[in-house]
Amino acid sequence: MTEELGAEYFDGRSARAWPVRLRRDGERLRIRGDGLDLSVALREVAWPERTRRGARVAELPAGASLHCADASAWDAFARQCGQRDTLVVRAQWSWRWVLASLAALAVLLAAIYQWGMPMAAQAALAFIPYSVDEALGSAALRSLDQHLLQPSKLAPAQREQLGAAFELALAAQPAATVPAHHLEFRSSRVGANAFALPGGSIVLTDELVALVDGDADVVTGVLAHELGHLRHRHGMRLLVQVGALGLIASAVFGDFSSLLAAAPVLLGQAAYSRDAEREADAESARVLKDAGISPAVMIAFFERLAARDRPEDSVAGGASAPKPADHRPREASALGIAIASHPADAERIAFFRAAAAQR
Ligand SMILES: [Zn+2]
Repeated sequence: MTEELGAEYFDGRSARAWPVRLRRDGERLRIRGDGLDLSVALREVAWPERTRRGARVAELPAGASLHCADASAWDAFARQCGQRDTLVVRAQWSWRWVLASLAALAVLLAAIYQWGMPMAAQAALAFIPYSVDEALGSAALRSLDQHLLQPSKLAPAQREQLGAAFELALAAQPAATVPAHHLEFRSSRVGANAFALPGGSIVLTDELVALVDGDADVVTGVLAHELGHLRHRHGMRLLVQVGALGLIASAVFGDFSSLLAAAPVLLGQAAYSRDAEREADAESARVLKDAGISPAVMIAFFERLAARDRPEDSVAGGASAPKPADHRPREASALGIAIASHPADAERIAFFRAAAAQR
């Protein structure tokens, strides 16, 4: 019963690794090696969680630690020491939990049949761990980097300035309520655009910065709109709604590959619902107002987008201006979730006008 485990001991003061043998000794852990004989109370050992493959590291009092490369031998030893997994880890490892998740998904499918997609998708999100958002988002960004996006050509100083202006505006929000996000600058074949990916990436194109003449207030409004999509997990909701539910079920089983392959395509082709866009616009208006910036900056943005899409209107004496055969940026439709891909309709402009009028 009292088996030994080989491990390495670090005293927390030097980089030296001491080869040691671990052994349970009643309610204490005995650590023995060359010129080393320690005994630590089991409850003073910070056992690592059994979540990942790879080396196990247990923290000991006074900065010392134990390292073990053989995860399965370590886990067996930890169990022998009476170490039980936390609820989360047990849930992740339990087949019963997986089956329960699938049962929940089955209930969900029934709910979809009964009440329709949007409500069911909303309910489904509760079952999807945020790590899935992160995995999908980075896969989507990798794919977009291969096909649509290029590195940004903006000067680092300008990128910094725009990022800082956005963070400054967010500083007016209670910190705990701001969803995880990081700004990614790209130049693109999707023209002047911005979009958020599940997990927190907000991509902003050089072309959008150029369209608004680098106006940091407008960029902040656009980024806050994308932050609204992140806050409400619209990207994930969309994936669930466009039929990725089966794929997400496979992800629950641990097979991410099919979902990773499909997510960029699905995110590219589908578009958010009007309600989702309203929620994101509301976030934009709120962030701008709380930061002391008039939401009217978004009206100017939508007007510039509209002018870009209808160049004949923006050219002086437009009637005689030659009309390019295909002036509407074809790429705009290549990315359904992006801010410039849906029309800046009168309702949205009216919303920001009303938000600007309320003080
Ligand atoms: Zn949007």
